[in-house]
Amino acid sequence: MPLVVFSAAACCCCCLCCGLLLLLLPCRRFAGRPRWIPRLMARTERPFFRIAYNLYTRTRLGYVYYKRQVKKARERFPEGHSSAQPMVFSGVKIVPVPVLSDNYSYLVIDTTSCMAVAVDPSDPRAVQASLEEEGVTLEAILCTHKHWDHCGGNKALKRLHKSCRVYGSSCDGIPELTDPVSDKENITVGQLQFQALFTPGHTVGHTIYVLDGKSGDGPACLFSGDLLFLSGCGRMFEGTAETMLASLDGVVTLGDDTLLWPGHEYAEDNLNFAAVLEPENSSRERKSQWVFQQRLEKKCTCPSTLGEEKEYNPFLRTHCQDLHQALGLQQGTEEDWNHFRARVLEEVRRRKDLFKGR
Ligand SMILES: [Zn+2]
Repeated sequence: MPLVVFSAAACCCCCLCCGLLLLLLPCRRFAGRPRWIPRLMARTERPFFRIAYNLYTRTRLGYVYYKRQVKKARERFPEGHSSAQPMVFSGVKIVPVPVLSDNYSYLVIDTTSCMAVAVDPSDPRAVQASLEEEGVTLEAILCTHKHWDHCGGNKALKRLHKSCRVYGSSCDGIPELTDPVSDKENITVGQLQFQALFTPGHTVGHTIYVLDGKSGDGPACLFSGDLLFLSGCGRMFEGTAETMLASLDGVVTLGDDTLLWPGHEYAEDNLNFAAVLEPENSSRERKSQWVFQQRLEKKCTCPSTLGEEKEYNPFLRTHCQDLHQALGLQQGTEEDWNHFRARVLEEVRRRKDLFKGR
């Protein structure tokens, strides 16, 4: 099999599936990334996409592909794809760990007890290095969902830290899961208090984790996995637009001061897309300029706040008339408001999937 073609793929789930499709093609002539593949894969309902997605999530091929991506990313970004600064509140330290080509894992540290929680530790070597650098003990892994670029490091870390608990949804087939969580379940590690919230849509068992601001007298922190990014949201691989909308509606009930720590560094591309939909949005323009500067220096763009996201993230603005006009959509006379907003969300998602040929 032409493993060389893996080099064509980046690490978002769409590209993972592109890579798998490429892996299956018995061809040397596709040594570069054929331009038709991203378009073919851009719509999740298409048969080739479903085949590749099932191979990625349900067979060993997905794991083999993930291992290859980890190796390549370590070679390409020995210091990580971005430089990220830890954030410290009283008693809590958040350490973003850049992994793969654009993922973030996070360490959440109770600085009093030196207990640490790892969120989505996809590259175990990078996460272990951070644990050692911080001099902390891994007590728990919080997994947002089953995709390898989020849970791929569970097994290796569990081998190193035998008493470590692994939290996540039982619907998602998360490796090494020890503590299946229920919706709104509280998780306590040292002084750290998290709440797990079910947010299906990207996967059936997608779960986000909210660190209670009271844990350390700081703002609440949302670890959103692939539900919500800076100016973006995850693709609807395993749910309808209605399901995803309900998950996003749940997120916006969290306070505006809540810090958003997403699973990927997609800010620049997402804001470029938002600019097409809302060119006159001044909040988006301000954020775009800041993000552009950050990315020129390969700096991490997290965290933003939920208050900011509501102002420019098109996936959280399905209620906005300006967006409806930009999309050319109108609520039907008999149409339920949430049904209409789900149509808006679906259209924004469709356009984003095709943005720049993806
Ligand atoms: Zn994912």
